[in-house]
Amino acid sequence: MGMAERDDAAPAGRTDCSEALLRVYEFLDGELGPTDCAKIQAHLDECGPCLHEYNLDTTLKALIKRSCSAEHAPDQLRTSIMSRISLTVFRIEGGS
Ligand SMILES: [Zn+2]
Repeated sequence: MGMAERDDAAPAGRTDCSEALLRVYEFLDGELGPTDCAKIQAHLDECGPCLHEYNLDTTLKALIKRSCSAEHAPDQLRTSIMSRISLTVFRIEGGS
């Protein structure tokens, strides 16, 4: 029986990793309000492996923290992180 072994363990209302990354993308695009911003931040706080695994690390975390407190992210940083995330999202969607 070829049933997939993956169980979708994420309870409703929780942000899962790929969703968080997608929203980070929107966030970098300037499309997220403070509420979603806080959601992402919360996810990254409780999900260190997410950042670690996808190699986004502290830079992104710091960037979000800054932007959530209404400071503007430097363009160059934003651009480089966005290209990293698009690779990452691609990997997530293609790999599972
Ligand atoms: Zn995660």
